[in-house]
Amino acid sequence: MEKILNYINGQLREPVSGQWLDNVNPAVGKVYSLIADSDERDVQQAVEAAEIAFPIWSTTAAEERSRIMVRMADLIAQNLEKLALAETIDNGKAITLSRTIDIPRAESNMRFFGTAIMHWSSEAHVMEDKAINYTNRKPIGVVGCISPWNLPLYLFTWKIAPALAAGNCVVAKPSEITPITAFLFSQLCMEAGLPPGVLNIVHGLGPKAGEAIIRHPKIKAISFTGGTKTGEHIARIAGPMFKKLSLELGGKNPNIVFADCDFEKMMRNTIRSSFANQGQICLCGSRILVERSLEKKFTEVFVEIVSGMKVGAPLDEKTKSGAMVGEAHMNKVLEYIELARQEGGKILCGGNRVHLDGENSGGYYIQPTVISGLGPNCRTNTEEIFGPVVTVQSFETEEEALQLANATEYGLACSLWTSDLNRAHRMAAKIESGIVWVNCWLLRDLRTPFGGVKNSGIGREGGWEALRFFTEAQNVCVDLS
Ligand code: NDP
Repeated sequence: MEKILNYINGQLREPVSGQWLDNVNPAVGKVYSLIADSDERDVQQAVEAAEIAFPIWSTTAAEERSRIMVRMADLIAQNLEKLALAETIDNGKAITLSRTIDIPRAESNMRFFGTAIMHWSSEAHVMEDKAINYTNRKPIGVVGCISPWNLPLYLFTWKIAPALAAGNCVVAKPSEITPITAFLFSQLCMEAGLPPGVLNIVHGLGPKAGEAIIRHPKIKAISFTGGTKTGEHIARIAGPMFKKLSLELGGKNPNIVFADCDFEKMMRNTIRSSFANQGQICLCGSRILVERSLEKKFTEVFVEIVSGMKVGAPLDEKTKSGAMVGEAHMNKVLEYIELARQEGGKILCGGNRVHLDGENSGGYYIQPTVISGLGPNCRTNTEEIFGPVVTVQSFETEEEALQLANATEYGLACSLWTSDLNRAHRMAAKIESGIVWVNCWLLRDLRTPFGGVKNSGIGREGGWEALRFFTEAQNVCVDLS
């Protein structure tokens, strides 16, 4: 069985423990590869390699860092089919999604930050003829990047690309649930000529390998994407060590639909924003808020379309809804559907596990599910489910829509559907979220600030924000007298 090895000091290595974890293909429910079960000893090796590499990498000309990163992007593009297939087998997402979204975006991440660094500059503050200040933005040193399973290579590269571009050396851990594309990526790093120790990938469990990264005193910054509870835990450990922290956490995003919207466009996008990647995207709109005068029509059309959505084998080219990432997560989502029933919710469609035929009969599939009849404060409407489950609530006024939208502890993203642009601006200003999409969803420009407020995290990724995070600003004041 294939072994997923660590990538440390430019070499593929077995874990020090000699132990392996099972890697399951969720479409069929069977183990298909083994993952290095790393611990603090592997992390220590990775940190030592990164410390040795740092003085050279941080002083390598930006043009050279850029050249290597662009080569890494090119290699991702050349290996698109192989990576897409691996992502789908590891994660359960539809092959068309891996091929058109996940892997192309991983390539863009490397290319975007690999070229951004060529345009990176800093500020000067001139005090007339007294003094001149300039800001020296220096790489931090060894940094830690920890990413989740829902968009595996996409989010892994989203973190390491700005870290490497800014001149840091990285110790990274992908989710143990979906490690394969990070492993394939380590082979591409070697092919691209990334110097040993600049990027180190340690595989294994969050509470073991991940924990060793966040606790390591030589790792000066942590960029983390994952659940809010894990983020809280990381902050508790890394905060008192004064590590720089970027936390991209969970969401419970509202999708606000006004009666004056472009109905067809809204419906097309609401289907995507509700169920893309089986609802396992932090930006999915899980609470649909509809203006009351449109509620009946919206619900009829939405439920009809969702009822016709076929759940299928991820490798089937026609599949739009694939497998859930794993058995434990599938069971968690099914428990939330049961909770919704207990809370008095009405299941308008879906609500059950799906059993496919043949070799996919042991896979983890759930019907796309629509629930109505629940108020804003119940657990179904306030806790992150992270599956193909949405609720529908209605509102009468803009004020009421805002109250519903802001009625959770999360604040990551929001979609707003209206043809009244004054209203869109008014609402956007009052919505408690880091991202507002007006008449669109998941339209991404990598230069924009990305991140959430409230329990959705701290800090922003994307564009200059990410390069600022991965550098320390030093002010140099020169007396001109
Ligand atoms: P987790 O928080 O469970 O895990 C995220 C990563 O952290 C994984 O690599 C995990 O390792 C690791 N980890 C777990 N425990 C520790 C620990 N004690 N110390 C260090 N690392 C640890 O999240 P999921 O993987 O379940 O991802 C789903 C969550 O991610 C959802 O809440 C979703 O909203 C959020 N998310 C947020 C995004 C955003 O941009 N705001 C984007 C995408 C997802 P392992 O898996 O190996 O245990």
